Order: sequence, then structure tokens, then C-alpha cells
Amino acid sequence: MIIAIASGKGGTGKTTVAVNLALSLEHIQLIDCDVEEPNSNLFLNLELEKVEDVSIPFPVIDEERCTHCGKCSELCEYNALAVLPDRVMVFKELCHGCGLCQIACPQGAITEKNRVIGTIEKGKNDIEFLQGVLNIGEAMSTPLIKRLKEKIDARKNVILDVPPGVACPVIEAISGVDYCLLVTEPTPFGLYDLKLAMELCRGLGVRFGIIINRDGIGNKDTENFCNEQGIPILLRIPYDRKIAELYSEGIPFVKEMPEWGERFREVFERIQREK
Ligand code: ADP
Ligand code: MG
Repeated sequence: MIIAIASGKGGTGKTTVAVNLALSLEHIQLIDCDVEEPNSNLFLNLELEKVEDVSIPFPVIDEERCTHCGKCSELCEYNALAVLPDRVMVFKELCHGCGLCQIACPQGAITEKNRVIGTIEKGKNDIEFLQGVLNIGEAMSTPLIKRLKEKIDARKNVILDVPPGVACPVIEAISGVDYCLLVTEPTPFGLYDLKLAMELCRGLGVRFGIIINRDGIGNKDTENFCNEQGIPILLRIPYDRKIAELYSEGIPFVKEMPEWGERFREVFERIQREK
């Protein structure tokens, strides 16, 4: 079973939930898809080794052949090409590597080269762990997440720590999972972004349920909203100084507060039952 831990809003406790849920279950593969800032391993302390570099293609123009007709830049959805009267400028960071410019060029003046955007690393003890690390300054995280997801071992219980937001990287991370746990905090910001994340799950046809983290702060709007909509609230984790302190020391809170192991297992079993 593949479970994504997402939220919309950043900093709601996705990594806290992903790591502690993973440590409460067996036969786990935990994949940190938050490739701009992967931090799950701060709590696992695994020695990581590089699995591979991840590259995407970008166009290279043969100026001898190019007639500067402008077809390539006209068709590029991402404005990665600018055709000037005497040369073509390629903006590699904007290129999604779709290859359309190469197909469209009537002169056959475009070939492709690869550039590395990040790496995939792995480590293992009881948990099999993978993470993507996007190169600094790189904007294109979606292809790295896609490649990372190709490493999913479907025989295991797979947990994906998803980046914040509801844009392309999150769509890539959530697409095709069996269930999405939306971690929210009961504040107006949390609820606003939760609604966007829910819309995303609905659009992708992914089942979802809610974990209210930092329960006790904010207001009751999130709870009322979920009840009105019939969305299951699977767990409430209180706003607890001890949880924050353990986090800051890199200690997963289930290790010091073992009663939470059982609660995370119940969430998992409920998700499985409702399959
Ligand atoms: P995300 O992965 O969504 O960005 P994190 O799991 O990294 O969020 O948590 C963000 C911050 O919130 C951390 O500093 C963590 O200590 C704190 N935090 C998370 N859950 C709680 C909680 N239940 N009580 C207190 N602090 C929490
Ligand atoms: Mg995180």
C-alpha cells in the first residue's frame, strides 16, 4: 500500500507524521519526496549512499542549420527558447525536457543533451529509505520526484513524505498512490491550504483522510468543516512542547512516547480496511 503524507501548507507536520508512522509499522519503504529540503533522515540517522544522478534533457541548437524561423520558441510552453534574428538563446533552467522543439524544427537543427538536476540516495536498517536531493538553485523538482517514485517497492508499505503546496511536484508525488494523509493544523491558514489539497486529491482520484496536528491551537473551523463534508479525521496530535523538543533533537516522538505507535498503527489499519 502506498500512502502519501501531504498538506498544502508547509510546516504542518508532514515529516513528523511520515517518520513516526513509518517507525510504527513493518515492511516499510519511506521515500522523502520533499527534494528541495529532504529531512526525514535527520530522524533515522541512516548512512546514505548515492543510487544515481537524475538528469533531464535540454535542446542544443546547431546554428549552421538553424534558419531562425521561430517554430521552436513558438511551441515551447515554458519559454525556454528565445529566437533572435541571428541566434537562439536556450534557458536550460526553464526547459522541461519535453522534446517538442526537436520534433518541430523543420531544419533538424536541434539535438538534446542531458543535465543533472539532482541525485537519489538510499539507506537501510529496519526501514528501507530513499530520498531525492535537488541541486541547489535548481527549479525542476518534478522529474526527480518522478524518478524517485519509480523506485517504489510495491511489496512493501510505502510512505511518501510529500513537499508542501499543491503545484506540479505535489501532483507528481500524489498521483497514483492508494491513500493521501493530509496533515493540517487547525488554523485559518491550515484550513485554507487543506481545502486546496483536498481538491487536488479529488481531481487525481486519490482517497484521503485528515490528521489534525498541533491540535489545541487555532479554532474549531477545520474540525467543523471535516464533519460537514464527511471527511474522516483519523488522528489528532496535540500541540506538545515535548514533540517539538524531541524533533529538535532528531528523535522521532514514538520512540519516547510509545503509546503513539499504537495510534499510528490504528490509522494505518483503518486506511487498509476502507480500501
Ligand atoms: P513539515 O514536514 O510539514 O514541514 P515538520 O514535521 O517538519 O513539518 O514539523 C515542522 C515543525 O513543527 C517542527 O519544528 C516540529 O517540531 C513542529 N511540530 C510538529 N508537530 C508538532 C506538535 N504536535 N507539537 C509541537 N510542535 C510540532
Ligand atoms: Mg517536511
